[in-house]
Amino acid sequence: RAKSAGGNRYEVADAEADARAITRHGLTTALPAALDRGEFFIEYQPLVHLGDGTVHGAEALVRWLHPQHGVLGPDRFIPLAERTGLIVPLGRWVLEQSVRQACAWQERNGGTAVKPLRVNVNLSPCQLTHPGLVQDTVDILERAGLEPEALCLEVTESALIGADDSLLKPLRRLAEMGVDIALDDFGTGYSNLANLRRLPVSVLKLDRSFTQSMQRFPADPVDLKIVDGIVSLAHSLNLTVTVEGVETGAQAEQLRILGCDTAQGWYYARPGPPDRLHELALVDATG
Ligand code: C2E
Ligand code: MG
Ligand code: MG
Ligand code: MG
Repeated sequence: RAKSAGGNRYEVADAEADARAITRHGLTTALPAALDRGEFFIEYQPLVHLGDGTVHGAEALVRWLHPQHGVLGPDRFIPLAERTGLIVPLGRWVLEQSVRQACAWQERNGGTAVKPLRVNVNLSPCQLTHPGLVQDTVDILERAGLEPEALCLEVTESALIGADDSLLKPLRRLAEMGVDIALDDFGTGYSNLANLRRLPVSVLKLDRSFTQSMQRFPADPVDLKIVDGIVSLAHSLNLTVTVEGVETGAQAEQLRILGCDTAQGWYYARPGPPDRLHELALVDATG
C-alpha cells in the first residue's frame, strides 16, 4: 500500500502498529500466569471531602509489574483481560485485596479519631454479567469482616447504558446489602439523565473532562451551568457527587462552590501504596 507511494512515514507507522500488536499479543498470553505469579499490585488514591479536605476513603487502581516492561497501567491490560475473560478472576482478586486493605486501615485506626476509611473498586462490564458477582462479594466481605457500607463498587456509565434488568439485578442486590454503587466517568456516555432514577446508584463520579474545563479562570459559563445542573439533579435524587481529576486548588474551590461532595486527583495525592493513605488520614485527625 503506502510503500509504492514511497511513504516512509507509513512504513514506520506500520512497523509501530506491528510492534504494538506483538506486544498486545504477548501481554495477552502472559496475563493468566501473571495472576498466578503475583505480578499485579494495587495503588490507592485518596478520596477527599471537598468541604474540609479530610480523607473519606480511596479508589483501588490495579497495576501490573511486568518482568520485561516494568509497571503497566490498567489501560494497557484491562481491555485484554476483558477480551480473554481473565478479568473475572483478576477483578475478584482486586476486590478481595481492596476489602482486606480497608479492614487493615480500619483496624489501625482503632482508638484514633479517624473515621472508618472506605474503599472504591472498579467493576468491568464482564464482571457484572458474571453470575458469581453477588455471592463472591458477600463471601469476600464476610471473610474479611468488612461492613458492606465501607465498600463502593464503580461501574462506568457506558456499561449501564441500555442495561436491562438482568444486568441491574445483581447491582440492586448489592445496593440493598448496603454496598454503594457509583456511576463512574459520568458525562462521557450518552445516558439520559432521567434514566438515573432506574439505576441502583448512590454516587455520581463526574468525569475528568468536567474538571478540566474548570482549569480556566473564569471557567466557561456554560460548563459551570452544566455542572451546576448535574449536581442539583444528583442531589435531588439523593446521590453523592464525586469529581475526578482535580489537579489544582482553583479547580477544587470551583467544584466545592458548585456543591460537589468529594474529590479525587493529583492536587490531593497521586495513587500510591496503601500505607500512605493511612498516614494522610491520620494527619487529618491530628490536625
Ligand atoms: P477510573 O476508574 O476513572 O480511575 C481514575 C483514573 O484517573 C486513574 O487512572 C487515576 O490514576 C487517574 N487520575 C486520578 N487523578 C488524576 C488527576 O488529577 N489527573 C489525571 N490526569 N489523572 C488522574 P489509572 O490508574 O490509569 O486507571 C485507568 C482506568 O483503569 C480507571 O479509570 C478504571 O476504569 C480502570 N481500572 C483501574 N483499576 C481497575 C480494576 O481493578 N478493574 C477494572 N475493571 N478497571 C480498573
Ligand atoms: Mg473508577
Ligand atoms: Mg473514573
Ligand atoms: Mg475516568
